[in-house]
Amino acid sequence: MENKVNQSFYQSLSEEHRELQDKAKRFSEEILMPYELQCEENNGLPAEELSTINKAVLDWELNAINHSKEDGGQGLTIFEQMLVNEQLGKVTNAIWDTVFQPAYPMRDGTKQQKEEYLIPTNLGKRRDAYAITEENAGSDPKQCMTRADKIDGGFKINGEKWFVTVGDVADYLLVHAHVDGDPNKATVFFIEKDLPGVKVKRTPLYTHNFVYEHPEFIFEDVIVDDNKILGEIGEGYELTKDWFVEARLGIAARCVGAAIRATDVANTFASERKQFGTSIRDFQAIEFMLADMAMEIMAAKSMLYRVCWDLSESNNRKLNHALAAAVKLFCSEMVGRVCDKAVQILAGRGYMRENPVERLWRDVRVDRIWEGTSEIQRVIIGGQIKKRGLDIYVN
Ligand SMILES: Cc1cc2nc3c(=O)[nH]c(=O)nc-3n(C[C@H](O)[C@H](O)[C@H](O)COP(=O)(O)OP(=O)(O)OC[C@H]3O[C@@H](n4cnc5c(N)ncnc54)[C@H](O)[C@@H]3O)c2cc1C
Repeated sequence: MENKVNQSFYQSLSEEHRELQDKAKRFSEEILMPYELQCEENNGLPAEELSTINKAVLDWELNAINHSKEDGGQGLTIFEQMLVNEQLGKVTNAIWDTVFQPAYPMRDGTKQQKEEYLIPTNLGKRRDAYAITEENAGSDPKQCMTRADKIDGGFKINGEKWFVTVGDVADYLLVHAHVDGDPNKATVFFIEKDLPGVKVKRTPLYTHNFVYEHPEFIFEDVIVDDNKILGEIGEGYELTKDWFVEARLGIAARCVGAAIRATDVANTFASERKQFGTSIRDFQAIEFMLADMAMEIMAAKSMLYRVCWDLSESNNRKLNHALAAAVKLFCSEMVGRVCDKAVQILAGRGYMRENPVERLWRDVRVDRIWEGTSEIQRVIIGGQIKKRGLDIYVN
């Protein structure tokens, strides 16, 4: 069925942006969606399938859309990245994560770090994972206990990291640690996973059946050279903030895509399903749910497109951080409500794992938790209002 809601946003795009969006849509539908049920049943995909997808990502030139062409990426603007991520968000089981977007702060690496890490990662030869969270450092990363003690020519790292997404297939981690245990010296280190002292503690199961795992890592007297610091000592939180801005906008875009797919499925079902001798869409209870879903997507998408457009034009890091928090909060809460209604419209069938609305409903729950919970986004927005006034949000 033709997607009328998408159509009007689509028509306001430039020719070049429409082509990009079409490409991402075709990639999601033709390359990624066929793996959804296999991924659901096995809580992941075998190495062979992952390698086929990796090749396709490169063939379709969707690798490292968030990094410069000079560094081997596609050099897309924030707005263009959003167009791609919106389409990828329609895919269940987080198979979108195979379309690798290496951690943005690596663009601040040295020439040597770019050659060793960023460029091969952008070209699909290596994989990174970002490790901040710990048992007692979740919303409050300053409670980080992972420490990097200065030794001759390098550092000795000890600590533990939780929930490391892609930690199973990554070959190196970007690890947030406090130098000499000092919270004012928060620093990001490149740590190769095969270094002595790097161990996987356990790999918990989660609500979703994600294409990759989120293992917990232990670091025991791991020795790294001085040149494994990303940026400077003490720059850890600033670098991580950059990562949050990008990751939060990516989440928001995927949430909009997920909501559109769930609504599309529910809308089709509402026409086809008959009870009491008529299509269930003729019941106002169902029609009103569809109306609310469409309205919520329209609101979220308007916000997402406008902010991503503005951020593509501006380079104000603090403003970006303030706006990204609001977009992530709104879109992630919106998709939860929309997917819940989609399940309700499909009823028994919506509760079957073989149905994409059921998988999306489970998949999107984490979007209100990771890269800062909804409460933390509200803390950021509240703090920004207090500091700068309401203008950045309302005028
Ligand atoms: C599937 C998954 C993948 C993840 N991937 C990664 C990853 O790749 N790398 C990584 O580093 N981390 C990752 N995380 C961790 C994630 O970012 C944290 O779970 C998140 O930041 C919240 O931390 P927490 O779970 O410790 O909750 P807590 O911080 O313990 O929060 C518990 C509750 O208290 C609330 N709360 C806390 N502080 C405040 C406050 N100031 N005001 C109001 N309410 C507050 C929270 O909102 C929440 O409701 C992942 C998590 C999940 C579930």
